Amino acid sequence: MSSEPGKLFVVATPIGNLKDITERAIEVLSGVDCIAAEDTRHSARLLEHYGITSPMSALHEHNEQAQAPRLVERMQLGESVALISDAGTPLVSDPGLNLVRLARQAGISIIPIPGASAAIAAMSVSGLPSDRFCFEGFLPAKASARRKRLTEVVEESRTLIFYEAPHRILDCLADMVVCFGGERPAVMARELTKRFETVHGDNLAALQEWVASDPNQQKGEFVILVHGAEPQSGHELDEAARHTVETLLQELPLKQAVSLAVKITGLKKNAIYQYALSLQAKAD
Ligand code: SAM
Repeated sequence: MSSEPGKLFVVATPIGNLKDITERAIEVLSGVDCIAAEDTRHSARLLEHYGITSPMSALHEHNEQAQAPRLVERMQLGESVALISDAGTPLVSDPGLNLVRLARQAGISIIPIPGASAAIAAMSVSGLPSDRFCFEGFLPAKASARRKRLTEVVEESRTLIFYEAPHRILDCLADMVVCFGGERPAVMARELTKRFETVHGDNLAALQEWVASDPNQQKGEFVILVHGAEPQSGHELDEAARHTVETLLQELPLKQAVSLAVKITGLKKNAIYQYALSLQAKAD
């Protein structure tokens, strides 16, 4: 065994198409003493495809706490470890944070081997502003928590990027329509790099309808990108209108308060709705 400490390589793997792996990733995976994989059976397919025979050990959300210190010990004894997840870049909505943190604390060199990530691939083809973006990952599974999270980012001006699973895609889009308003531009990127790759952009209401009307569009893996909020020009609502919304919201549920405020002020529903949502988010 070497007296030099080993290294930790954080290696991106494909998000569908097995060819989306770098030469360097193959070289590193072939050369390490251990590949820490989220699901060893799943990754066996990729390793087999490239003739990589390095031994694997499982590192997933349920055993990471216990496994990470063991792997760090091995690296301190001179072994090198590569961390991979089922798809894309480890630690992006995937396990590995404990291991990377512990390795960093132990002074072990941590080397990124960059490659695919669904969020970045989706953004690169979305046509939405990409100079500043906000990765939100998975929304909470429960409807109330999901709406709360969406409400918290209603005023975010950067492009928002979400991951979603097929069994929640319709609920997720419906909640986005409620929270962001149906007019907000959005893009759905489904099954990227795979056979049924689809990238479809529209406003949220139309996008929701399009997905709801076609069961095929509800299958697979999804990235949803939502245009950031337009800057509120000194607030579209003047002080009197803001006061009206605030007062109504103290007495009525959101929908009723918004609808009455629109009648009283004669202002645009969306502006009033967004303001009411921002008040609600602050109150929660
Ligand atoms: N680490 C991965 C990455 O770098 O993108 C993400 C892992 S996360 C557990 C899995 C989620 O990523 C899926 O539910 C989906 O939202 C998104 N995703 C992964 N592969 C995808 C693909 N080929 N097309 C669209 N979305 C994908």
